[in-house]
Amino acid sequence: MLKAFAKINLYLEIIGDRPDGYHELVMILQNIDLADQIDLLASSHDDIRVYCDHPEVPLDKSNIAYRAAKLMVTEFPDAFVKYPGVDITIHKRIPVAAGLAGGSTNAAAVLVGINLLWNLGLTQSELEELGATLGSDVPFCVAGGTAIATGRGEQLSPLPSLENIYIILGKYRSLAVSTAWAYKTYRQQFGSSYIRDTNSLATRAAAVHSGPMVKAILHKDAMEIGHLLYNDLERVVLPEYPQVLQLREVFANAGVLGTMMSGSGPSVFALCESKEQAEQVKLDVRKTIPDNDLELFVAPMSTHGIQVIS
Ligand code: ATP
Repeated sequence: MLKAFAKINLYLEIIGDRPDGYHELVMILQNIDLADQIDLLASSHDDIRVYCDHPEVPLDKSNIAYRAAKLMVTEFPDAFVKYPGVDITIHKRIPVAAGLAGGSTNAAAVLVGINLLWNLGLTQSELEELGATLGSDVPFCVAGGTAIATGRGEQLSPLPSLENIYIILGKYRSLAVSTAWAYKTYRQQFGSSYIRDTNSLATRAAAVHSGPMVKAILHKDAMEIGHLLYNDLERVVLPEYPQVLQLREVFANAGVLGTMMSGSGPSVFALCESKEQAEQVKLDVRKTIPDNDLELFVAPMSTHGIQVIS
């Protein structure tokens, strides 16, 4: 049994295009204590099976948790002969298609879990490397905590952990944003301003590495982190989704330290001074937006990406 934690983006800057068709990014990623539970069981049915009762999570080969298990079968065929089946049960709590890496963290849990189940003895960096072939966020989900991610998001530099900072997170159940759509639309609208030469790309990434947000994290200065939250994708998602913009404004007016959309959205989070403040903001937001479609979560930041429970 493993816990697979969601992530938020404290910072997301799109720098330019990469030759492989992805965007060159600089992100600061942070786990939060909102997690799916993943149960992995060796079985004898010579197959990978995925179970999940969430209507938006596919159970077939398109499930990224399935793809993670398939990758392990391909990489370690001898182990699969010895342990010829795996059942993956996903207890979904992380909102789906929400910019919270819900799928990526499930994939990371499967890599970590199968490594243990099959006694493969892979190191964390070997697991991260495997994860990068499944999706750009998977290496961070394996590593967990707080990190700068560059390249397409798969190159990680760890930062000191942030703890005891609470967030409130909101997500409209019926809204889903495709990550591919958000990046494609961004390129269409803002591609002309991309940095094009490799040296300038590296200089820009280095500036973020030593920049104000990293300093605020080193000082664990929640107020400063709140001021410096940044996400380029808000420029395309907020105009398209007025409910998301409204939620962000309601958070901003509730006296929080800062608020921002996470990843490609549509979830929006706000940093709070304390758990009590986060709970109060939750009550206030419920009063201002009395819509059952809006899910609200209060959670502290987490130092874990994946936690092995048993
Ligand atoms: P990211 O932040 O990594 O871009 P996300 O949080 O925006 O991810 P996901 O929750 O990973 O988005 O879901 C994206 C799509 O992936 C969904 O529409 C869903 O159908 C599909 N999917 C495949 N496997 C899973 C999984 N294990 N959990 C959730 N969604 C999955």
